[in-house]
Amino acid sequence: MWHAPLAAALGEPAARPSLLWVPVRICVLAGGVGGARFLLGARRLLGLDAPADRESSAHRIEAVVNVGDDAWMHGVRICPDLDTCMYTLGGGIDRERGWGHAGETWNCRDELAAYGVQPDWFGLGDKDLATHLVRTQMLDAGYRLTDVTEALCTRWSPGVDLLPVTDDRCETHVVIGEQPDGTGPRAIHFQEWWVRHRAQLPASDFVQIGAEQAVPTQSTLEAIGSADLVVVAPSNPVVSVGAILAVPGIRAALRSTSAPVVGVSPVIGGAVLRGMADACLTAIGVETDALAVARHYGARSGTGLLDGWLVAPGDGPAAGEDVDGVTVREAPLLMSDPDTTADMVTAAIELAGLDAPGRSPR
Ligand code: GDP
Ligand code: CA
Repeated sequence: MWHAPLAAALGEPAARPSLLWVPVRICVLAGGVGGARFLLGARRLLGLDAPADRESSAHRIEAVVNVGDDAWMHGVRICPDLDTCMYTLGGGIDRERGWGHAGETWNCRDELAAYGVQPDWFGLGDKDLATHLVRTQMLDAGYRLTDVTEALCTRWSPGVDLLPVTDDRCETHVVIGEQPDGTGPRAIHFQEWWVRHRAQLPASDFVQIGAEQAVPTQSTLEAIGSADLVVVAPSNPVVSVGAILAVPGIRAALRSTSAPVVGVSPVIGGAVLRGMADACLTAIGVETDALAVARHYGARSGTGLLDGWLVAPGDGPAAGEDVDGVTVREAPLLMSDPDTTADMVTAAIELAGLDAPGRSPR
């Protein structure tokens, strides 16, 4: 099936969404801020911004979201990446911070501090707390995280199916070595390393607690297996995408899907944007370099995950467009707004060959 309308639409930005009469199903592996911004672009490109348009559209975007950052704090279950995606797509995100609610207040945090209770380094906003209370109540009542997320999304209407990669606990912990104060090597929750220590404690490894027993959800496997295109968002390669890949069965699903798998580099010009992903890459011995991240994911033609890899202009290989079996293409990768990001998604579609005459999307 040739995506004629898609090809036409790609050359005709103004007419893009409405001309896409061949249904396109895109599956995105996503973390928090980077994943959410990428999803805004995908939703814009497929014309799924307005709830009314979604009803008549056959396009579909499914996001397989990282749960490695999830934690219990003050008795409630927090799911930072799912919530960042939900608030961003639902229009409720604090744009300055990139996470949490717009117009947040911090009364509960201040009251907790007045009691001197730990952890005092994790700020739960008052509005955010309501989300966690609903989630915790539903989990306590026996609902799966997948169902809870769907229920929360009824309010936010993100226009993207947000799918926790697993309903099981599979939390990222960070292995830190001998400390200057004499304390020995130990593993701490990712949140403690990231938020409390600002990723400044030298890490030697990342481990997923619960990974042995965790299984991917059926919805996740179905999203990867039935997609026309799988995109690895420009999310943290270690603690967002890496934590998704740590769920047993996800790698196999990505390697066996008939959809092309294209990744987008979160590293531009040898640096990460907003955040501390370089500390994570360094910890696992990967250079903060767009092509080094591609090699880290590896080629599907070998033992890895990628068919294609998008890098920023100037970050491509010096010769040819192949890096260890992965086809590399340059495109502007700054996600400054949904329209610019939609062009990135277009570049991913082109790299996957879905726009080419005679090429089947499946
Ligand atoms: P987190 O869970 O909130 O840390 O967010 P993600 O893991 O989804 O994304 C974090 C990554 O997004 C970082 O490594 C950044 O380099 C990357 N990132 C943020 N903004 C941009 C952007 O505009 N373009 C690209 N290519 N990457 C970005
Ligand atoms: Ca995250």
